[in-house]
Amino acid sequence: MRIAAILLAAGAGRRFDPEAPLPKQYVLLRGQPVIRHAARALLPYVDCLQPVGDPDLLREALAGLPTLPPVAGGAERQHSVRAGLDALAALPETERPDLVLVHDGARPWVPPEVIRGVIAALDTAKGAIPAVRVADTLKRGDTRDMIAGTVSRDQLWRAQTPQGFHFGLLHALHGASADGAATDDALLLERAGHDVALVPGTEDNIKLTYAEDLVRLERLMDGQLLPRAGTGYDVHAFEDGRKLILCGIDVPHTRGLAGHSDADVGIHALCDAIYGALAEGDIGRHFPPSDNEWKDADSARFLVHAGERIRARGGFLTSADVTLVCERPKIGPHAEAMRARLADLLQVDIGTISVKATTSERLGFTGREEGIACIATVMLMVP
Ligand code: MG
Repeated sequence: MRIAAILLAAGAGRRFDPEAPLPKQYVLLRGQPVIRHAARALLPYVDCLQPVGDPDLLREALAGLPTLPPVAGGAERQHSVRAGLDALAALPETERPDLVLVHDGARPWVPPEVIRGVIAALDTAKGAIPAVRVADTLKRGDTRDMIAGTVSRDQLWRAQTPQGFHFGLLHALHGASADGAATDDALLLERAGHDVALVPGTEDNIKLTYAEDLVRLERLMDGQLLPRAGTGYDVHAFEDGRKLILCGIDVPHTRGLAGHSDADVGIHALCDAIYGALAEGDIGRHFPPSDNEWKDADSARFLVHAGERIRARGGFLTSADVTLVCERPKIGPHAEAMRARLADLLQVDIGTISVKATTSERLGFTGREEGIACIATVMLMVP
């Protein structure tokens, strides 16, 4: 069974913030657009993902994710779903889906068990939607905001997405119903007399509708993050005739450090601390010294990569502490510039980064001024 997903980003989202420069699907949630979270939630469970909406905004928000090229949406939700279905139907026959999930781009936190439940229900039903039973007592109000009656909540459910369907059936029903009035896709199957299964949804599958929903989503996400610590240690020997580069800064000195790259011992230790916290090996694994591409390389690019790995894992850096061990040169006068440079490369606030130095009281190789050592410690928050 090939499974596709249509990710809808066509709504203008006026209830969220009428003044907002961007629709709510593109608002940043812990550093990433809401719709990017939604795409990342779906991708492990589908063979292809078709975004529908403003193609320029979607390309930017979903950059680097393995989705199909975005297609433009329509005036009504139903027209946008239709555009996505048509794009999937136009795929080569071997790539055309048997099942399709239709998901709101404004639901960034759909849990795996909900997605799996919808797909499993399609074994026996032509359509399936996640839903939660209505728990609150329901009142009907009149035009004066007075109670006009109580509505029985028996057998009432609140519909969520992703809604799942047999692809051929949904495509055919959309083709036969062009009025655009269907507010969800299950309605088209209901009208045609097909059974649509209700599978358990969850209150965590929040649709970003009002500004306070963003706060609830941030709390949910933060509850999924765990602290991870890492340490890095590096040593480079002094060598005559080289520039001394420490923590991304050119430091005036009589000698530089020997090494395959620019030998920035501070950045190397910091990279190793980050890779260590992520349990993703060390700097030599990502940038092998046997590879001539990294000869005399600016180590700044190694640190940019380490920062990208944190973001790719959905995490962020909470603190980094870098300690250089040397008798000379004096680090103090350069420490602020080093902090600023490291923060810039990692795209974090300067308050996240500490750079300090110590001597080893003239003991050992650092004491004899044969080289510089560096110890770095980082703390990350990662899902
Ligand atoms: Mg090194």
